[in-house]
This record gives sequence, structure tokens and C-alpha cells, in this order.
Amino acid sequence: MAISRREFLKIMGGTTAAFAFPGVILQGCKKALERAAERTPVIWIQAQSCSGCSVSLLNAVDPDIATVVTQHISLNFHQTLMGGTGHRAISVIEDAVARGRNDYVLAVEGSIPTKDDNYCTLGMVHGHHVSAKKWVTDLARNAKAVIAIGSCAAFGGIPAAEIRATGDNPTGAKPVSDILGGLDKVINVPGCPPHPDWMVGTIMHLILKGMPELDEFRRPKMYFGKTVHEQCEHLAAYKRGIFAQKWGDPGCLYKLGCLGMDTGCDIPRRKWLGVNSCTGSGSGCIGCTEKPFPDYGKRGIYKHLTASLEDIQRIENIEIREAVLSLRNGGTING
Ligand code: SF4
Ligand code: SF4
Repeated sequence: MAISRREFLKIMGGTTAAFAFPGVILQGCKKALERAAERTPVIWIQAQSCSGCSVSLLNAVDPDIATVVTQHISLNFHQTLMGGTGHRAISVIEDAVARGRNDYVLAVEGSIPTKDDNYCTLGMVHGHHVSAKKWVTDLARNAKAVIAIGSCAAFGGIPAAEIRATGDNPTGAKPVSDILGGLDKVINVPGCPPHPDWMVGTIMHLILKGMPELDEFRRPKMYFGKTVHEQCEHLAAYKRGIFAQKWGDPGCLYKLGCLGMDTGCDIPRRKWLGVNSCTGSGSGCIGCTEKPFPDYGKRGIYKHLTASLEDIQRIENIEIREAVLSLRNGGTING
């Protein structure tokens, strides 16, 4: 379905926001819109994921997800959102591969296991389980573009984390770009999870304007081009040297372990659900859009986030209190 320039601007207002969408990109989009007479099919594969990215997608506000899937794209396949089941559902992707369709955008959520294909399979064809790796490889071949949704698909994420004791990973989890041999049509939209605007906005940009401008990690610059720190609610406090010493203090969260300086992400301006951000809520940035997440600096997600003994004693849940104490003393959650 074609959408008007007004609607496109509304979508971009909601998903990309004027501050992040350079005016120059909008020039000439009317022609692009006129050509977008049909809704572009999107095939969404979930591999080693917790489905958090899909849950975040459902929280899209403007446009809401129902408008996106009924008016702007044709979501032909999505394991957890589609109504079809069994062979009927799988035949959608089977047909796309068998007929050599080349009109769709492939979205992949989750990392891909490489130690054994059986660690993540999706449906059966001719009585045999088909691995997520095979679907992604086959579908990527003719896709207009491949969007690696979330940090697991983009960089490996939590499923690719190392076991500290062995340095190993149980499934050999890899990002989509590794599986596809650095295919230049891959776009990474990391985040744990990604903001719904980043997913919807990237898909809409692809459909209406083609490939967005990417940074060195193949992330759209319009969302990841500036650091959290540059856009942070606490930047003024940082510049004045006002640092929170413990959780709940006013001021910059750097001394509590905030990774905003090294992390590309616009959440402090975009806000989750338009309401608040990680830094704004006082938890700091854990660098979830960056390649080393979740083991940024080999520290784990919260290891260097310091809490005073007093703060820890106030934690009512005994298990959590002991875990935080262990972390504070240089141990691990299980150690
Ligand atoms: S809270 Fe984090 S992102 Fe914000 S000013 Fe401090 S270091 Fe920078
Ligand atoms: S501010 Fe940091 S933790 Fe929050 S979404 Fe952005 S990168 Fe992730």
C-alpha cells in the first residue's frame, strides 16, 4: 500500500524523530513513496533469542504495530506473531526459498548456533528439522536486505557470552553477519532489546529510501551515531563535576559504572515508551548496543556498578543481597 508524504513524515516523526533524521534524507522521498505501491513483505526469523526484541516491537507507539503490519509492511512470517502454525506456516518461508523470491526484507532476531545445527531448528521440511542457520542463509541470499534485530543477532549478545571458567560458549553462538560471511546488505539494529522506533524506522527507511547511512558496526547512524553521554540528562551534572556516589544520588552515574561515554544510542532523547531512559531513571547505561555487551570490559553487566555496604544491607531479598555482596567482593553470581 502506498503511503503519503504526510504519513511518511508522521512515521519518521514517531520512529526517527526530527533530531535524528537529517532533513536531507527526506528530500525526494515523495517519488520513493509513489513507487512504494505495494507493501513490502518482511520475513522475521527468531533464532537463539529470548523474544524480547519482538516484545519491544509490539510496544511501537507511533505508528503502532497494528498499523505497521496492516498498512506499511506485509509481515509474511513471524514465529510468535503469526496466526498460522505447522507446515502451513513453514510453507511461507519454504516457498520464498524454493521460488527464489527476491522482494522481501529478512529480519533475524537472535544469534545463530554453530556447534550443532540441532541447537536451534525451525519447522520441518520433508520430515527433517531445518536449522535456523539454514533458513537464515537461504533466505538471506535473495533478500533485499537483512536486518539483524537486537544485540544477539547483531553481535552475538547474551547467547554468545563466554563461560568465565572455560572461555567457551556452549552453542558457538554467532552474529548473523558472521554466518553470512560479511554480506554487505546486513544492517545491525542492536539493543537488548532495541527500541521499537529503531526497528520500525529502519524497516521503513529500507522500504522507502533504501539503505540508511551506517556506522562502522553497520548500525544506522540516525539512531546510534551519537553516544548516550552526549545526549544524557546528566551531562550538565557531569560537566559541573557532580557525581552520584551511591544509587539514588543526584548527578552523573559515571562513578557507579555508567558506560554512556562508550555507547552509541539515542535513548536519553528518545526515551522508552516516550517516558524515561536508562540514565534518566538512574540505573546508568550498560552498553547494550555495543559489540562487547554483555561482557563489556570483561565485567559482566553489573559487576563494576558499586554499591555501599549500607545500600546492600538494605536489600530485602536474601539471594539478591548475597549475589550483590559476592559481586562487590570480586566474585561472580555463581561463585
Ligand atoms: S550518567 Fe553516564 S551518560 Fe550520563 S553524563 Fe554521566 S557518564 Fe555520561
Ligand atoms: S542507554 Fe545504554 S543500556 Fe539503555 S538502551 Fe541505550 S545502550 Fe542500552
